[in-house]
Amino acid sequence: MINKLKSISLGNWILIGMVLGLIFGLILNFGVDDYFVKNVIFMDNIFYLGGNLFIKLMKMLVVPLVFCSIVVGVSSISDIKTLGSIGGTTIVIYLITTAIAVTIALAAGMVIKPGLGLDMAYASQNANVTMNQTMVDTILNMVPDNPINSLANGDMLPVIIFGVLIGIILAKLKEKVDLIGEFFSQANTVMMEMTSIVMKFAPIGVFCLMAKTFGSLGIEGILPLSKYIICVIIALAIQAFVIYPTLLVIFTRLNPVKFFKRFISVMFFAFSSSTSNATIPLNMDKLSEMGVSRDISSFTIPLGATINMDGTSIMQGVAVMFAAQAYGIDLGTSALLTVIFTAVMASIGTAGVPSVGLVTLTMVFNSVGLPIEAIGIIFGIDHILDMLRTAVNITGDAICTIIVAFRNKAMDTDMFNGKKEPEKQ
Ligand code: ASP
Repeated sequence: MINKLKSISLGNWILIGMVLGLIFGLILNFGVDDYFVKNVIFMDNIFYLGGNLFIKLMKMLVVPLVFCSIVVGVSSISDIKTLGSIGGTTIVIYLITTAIAVTIALAAGMVIKPGLGLDMAYASQNANVTMNQTMVDTILNMVPDNPINSLANGDMLPVIIFGVLIGIILAKLKEKVDLIGEFFSQANTVMMEMTSIVMKFAPIGVFCLMAKTFGSLGIEGILPLSKYIICVIIALAIQAFVIYPTLLVIFTRLNPVKFFKRFISVMFFAFSSSTSNATIPLNMDKLSEMGVSRDISSFTIPLGATINMDGTSIMQGVAVMFAAQAYGIDLGTSALLTVIFTAVMASIGTAGVPSVGLVTLTMVFNSVGLPIEAIGIIFGIDHILDMLRTAVNITGDAICTIIVAFRNKAMDTDMFNGKKEPEKQ
């Protein structure tokens, strides 16, 4: 029995944790009336502690892991031209997949018409969301004026830029700085080891997060918005299960079913935590198990978690159609093109943490003059959609990474196909 349990992989344990958490949460939600037992003991203490402790542990890993692995990854690509082409291709694929995502969302919105016939009295509750950052600010903020500050604050884009620069310089100066190179390489090994230790707690963390979400999930507020929710879910499903597999087949000829079988645990982790950033370590680990070189994923995954938010753009596209229909505003072709463009930009500006997609949504609404109050309507039910879109966000990062790695011959397809075991670190 013990041996059988031991042979279950971590990915499967995460799945088990998630399903048990869901069941336990629903039982608590609908089957337990005692306020003290339900809310005080379980929700506010056991699940809150277990879930948040785990998210904090994952977050603790992100900055040092991302920074060290980018430095090591970039310095090992030494050839600046190759690096430029990898960076360029990655960014282009990220932007294109996001544009496809918004287009699907707009189309789904046109077909399903989620905002039609909505009682606008419901819109009275204003959401307190503001977006002050412009695109120019986003570009300026990419360059750290104080790298230590950026590291301390976990500002991903400046951290990535600084890490890439150090990596390039290490590669250029070679043995002159081999001590520093060695330092980062060993620090990276330490962080990877820490990741695998923290990851052992993932099943418990995921159990608590799921139980907490489903233990307090109310159905009020969901019904009037059911068309909106269904529309977002359909568009997310098309992106995840039609667009990504198609891209994978076209560019790599790899089997998407094999991909999803192995990747599903990462999707579930993103689903239960609602944060792309905290999913970075797990995503990188899983990709290296699938044969993707860390030299590529160490750079593309953190970059994707920061600038590539296909799932978020889908929610934003559907929200635009929803608001336009609810308020009877007719969006012409040029307005729709503006939405696609701003949603792609908003995706770059959305940090990989819970709910930020709603904040950057104001930028998209402003671009076509839609009333910001409409965001207030979808605010209440956003949590569950945030979970779903985060799972899609990180899947997009992984698919693009596999394509980039494959094209740069930095992918072991035997390992992807399960013909070869990943090497132990
Ligand atoms: N929670 C999302 C993420 O971390 C961002 C969002 O859409 O709010 O990827």
